[in-house]
Amino acid sequence: MKVNSNFDNLVPNYLFAEIAKRVNDYHKANPEKDIIRLGIGDVTLPLAPIVIEAMKKGADDLAAKETFKGYPDYEGYAFVREAVSGYYKSFGVSVDADEVLISDGAKSDCGNICDIFDKDNTVLVTDPVYPVYVDSNIMAGRKIIYADCNKSNNFKAMPDSSVHADIIYLCSPNNPTGAAYTADELKAWIDYAIKNDAIILYDCAYEAFITEDVPRSIFAVEGARQCAIEFCSLSKTAGFTGTRCGYTVIPKELERDGHNIYKLWYRRQATKFNGVSWPVQCAAAAVFSEEGQRQIRVNLEYYKENARIIAQALDELGIYYTGGKNSPYIWLECPKGLKSWEFFDLLLEKANVVGTPGAGFGKNGEGFFRLTSFGDRDKTIEAVKRIKELLSE
Ligand code: PLP
Repeated sequence: MKVNSNFDNLVPNYLFAEIAKRVNDYHKANPEKDIIRLGIGDVTLPLAPIVIEAMKKGADDLAAKETFKGYPDYEGYAFVREAVSGYYKSFGVSVDADEVLISDGAKSDCGNICDIFDKDNTVLVTDPVYPVYVDSNIMAGRKIIYADCNKSNNFKAMPDSSVHADIIYLCSPNNPTGAAYTADELKAWIDYAIKNDAIILYDCAYEAFITEDVPRSIFAVEGARQCAIEFCSLSKTAGFTGTRCGYTVIPKELERDGHNIYKLWYRRQATKFNGVSWPVQCAAAAVFSEEGQRQIRVNLEYYKENARIIAQALDELGIYYTGGKNSPYIWLECPKGLKSWEFFDLLLEKANVVGTPGAGFGKNGEGFFRLTSFGDRDKTIEAVKRIKELLSE
């Protein structure tokens, strides 16, 4: 037998292992130092009370014959899909409950969606990039092309009409850069996709962090229904990173190559996925209730305030950055022309603050650095104070 040799083409991603190693080595040599981590991409605040309540009630349902639930519907229970549809409506976007598919998260869907597309399609990703898009398509043996994000385009790559792509991954607000596309910018991508008979795979896992006038869904922009699939998640919106629940939206009319895309994805899910558990779907529906929205906003505001604190310090230091306003991520240019890992070492050793070197997200990440707002407030304030002291020297 042979294994999938495409795995040989994966570039080993040592980013988080290397960070852990350097932090551990430093900690061993300097056990008295108080290290603050502003690199974490996971949430730290607990689930909202209404979510916990719904999850507990869902678990209780499983304890009685009359209310017991077995396999859920492949596409998710109707009341959850209707809740998602209502959520879209709350910000002016029309998505039918029958176009929503509930899943165990955006990561799996962004990767698994590859199953429905031919191997010979060309995939376009922006660089720096959330590695899941790249690695999933390398595993499938697809050609990947990169659209450069850099200071000159404020880390928002725009389509190049001389380049053809069949599958386009866009992530807005972006991980790692925090940059968010405007409606006009998304319209340019939509026009490009339609012209190329391509499909945009739109990841808006961070839409709940948007504060400015930028779209929270690609379906807020004209033409998107002809060319886009949207992935979203309750992970960062409502703290479901460990609980696991997300949703994918596919317009019912979306077709390519003589096939209905919703039907292909439904078939794929029905074959390889048996749905999200009853207690978790009950918890997810609670997020979209009026009270649920009020409660999750408390945590979101906490993270957003952390982001504001970090961004304000960078403004005061005159350091270029993207993100922070519509995103929990702040993507900054390393000062003094330092490379990403050089700045990592400087921050670790002189300020005892840990972040994420931008170089780990692609070639355009070199010379940049990611800080996140998912940490504790007091620690964020302390870290920012130390960074300011270090960089004002
Ligand atoms: N998409 C992006 C851009 C992310 O940064 C992440 C998590 O970090 C995910 C998707 C994963 O979401 P989920 O937890 O729903 O799988």
